[in-house]
Amino acid sequence: MTITPSQNKTLFHELAALLTGQLFFPDDAGYEQVRQLWNGRVKTQPAAIARCLTVEDVIHTLRWTRAHGLPLSVRGAGHDFAGRALAQNGIVIDLSQMKAVTIDPDKRTAQVEGGATAGDLIEAAEKYGLATTTGTASLGMSGFTLGGGYSPLMGVYGLGVDNLLSAQVVIADGQLVTANAQEYADLFWGLRGGGGNFGIVVSLEYRLHPLTTVLSGMLFYPLEQARAVFRQFNEFIATAPDELTIQFGFIQTPEGQTVLLLSPTYCGALEAGERAIAPLRTFGTLLVDQVQPVTYNALIHRAEIAPKGRHYYSQTQSLNGLQTEAIEVLIEQGLPFSSPFSMIGLINFHGAASRVGAYETAFALRQDHLLVNILAAWEPQSPDEEQRHIQWAQNISRSLAPYAFKGGYINLLDQEEQERVPLTFGTNYERLLDLKRKYDPDDVFRLTVGHLAL
Ligand SMILES: Cc1cc2nc3c(=O)[nH]c(=O)nc-3n(C[C@H](O)[C@H](O)[C@H](O)COP(=O)(O)OP(=O)(O)OC[C@H]3O[C@@H](n4cnc5c(N)ncnc54)[C@H](O)[C@@H]3O)c2cc1C
Repeated sequence: MTITPSQNKTLFHELAALLTGQLFFPDDAGYEQVRQLWNGRVKTQPAAIARCLTVEDVIHTLRWTRAHGLPLSVRGAGHDFAGRALAQNGIVIDLSQMKAVTIDPDKRTAQVEGGATAGDLIEAAEKYGLATTTGTASLGMSGFTLGGGYSPLMGVYGLGVDNLLSAQVVIADGQLVTANAQEYADLFWGLRGGGGNFGIVVSLEYRLHPLTTVLSGMLFYPLEQARAVFRQFNEFIATAPDELTIQFGFIQTPEGQTVLLLSPTYCGALEAGERAIAPLRTFGTLLVDQVQPVTYNALIHRAEIAPKGRHYYSQTQSLNGLQTEAIEVLIEQGLPFSSPFSMIGLINFHGAASRVGAYETAFALRQDHLLVNILAAWEPQSPDEEQRHIQWAQNISRSLAPYAFKGGYINLLDQEEQERVPLTFGTNYERLLDLKRKYDPDDVFRLTVGHLAL
């Protein structure tokens, strides 16, 4: 059904009157700003955006949208590269203003509203010397967690989902429920890696850990040494301690030089960290060495290499180790980049994240692996070139597939890659389908990462 505010203002005013927050229409002055996602390439035009301020706003909007048979989407902080937070001609339940964070320092827990970012959480928790697993940037905690949640801390503390204690969810019929190990335990299982298939998460409770400072930063090596560095790195990560999680890949520096990057984060005693990281400094000729103690807050907010508003296209694979053939693909097909802003980033999934059983949460890939994000990025001024950037990312991804586990991290899959979703969920897929039939039989939440098609 397509319905626009200009066709039926009265109808939409009915919804507006129910809300504490504001309802934005395409002809409102603020609409474009409110609509903007992280990825400037996303031009999807919702019929209205409901900026919810309360759980009641969420429930009213859901019920109203269902009653009028309109498409619906849910927005956390809007970081999804594929732009699934916006429904074309539909209604957006926008949680981005619901960002409150409450810390319980005695219990070491954080209660976080559905639109809060990692930055909101870390800022509130660091006053007590506490933190939890977050992404590498200040992302929306909801989307990050529902998809799984890879983090520089995951070797010690596991994925985002492994730190989730409880969630308050508005399910498809408009009921507000609490899901945790005791109540709605099946839903709680599904929320931990099953995407936004089952409801609107209005708040999340996380376990916190004593942590303020980590040893982290960037090491740059010349491209000519990439093969040699990768070979040594491959041996190194096989025995890397849990405390050491490493992002690596290729980026172009602001000076225009493409370099091989290793970016370790050691989460533990700093002296032990220096010893653990020392071998990385000997893998080649270091062009830059910025590894130093930093607060976790500063790490998450360090210079943004994928800033808001640029145009992005993301592809992903989960490599089964760093085989020689995969290294060749990264070097031979990855370089030169499609644009100075494109990049290839990997992170080693290991330690605590790998010790959780594949059936314990909906997130199924619990073997050690290397998550690859091939990120084509370009300035909005060059839209004609879009296909070239997209093909660059797709070609690399296709060539890496033979060396990867089936499926791919749902938060980084493109909307056109629905066929990879069942492969990602693997042995958990049937159980997830059963949950979808139980909690969302009408497929209200179809515009989501990891959509389960009934
Ligand atoms: C710069 C950058 C760096 C990144 N780094 C990492 C990283 O280190 N680790 C990692 O794991 N991922 C990373 N990602 C991917 C990130 O996890 C996803 O983009 C995630 O979806 C962001 O969450 P969000 O709440 O902002 O999502 P949004 O774009 O707001 O929403 C995306 C989808 O998530 C679902 N959703 C979001 N909030 C809710 C909610 N409250 N209730 C129900 N469904 C909801 C909806 O289906 C929605 O369509 C990165 C992304 C970017 C842009």
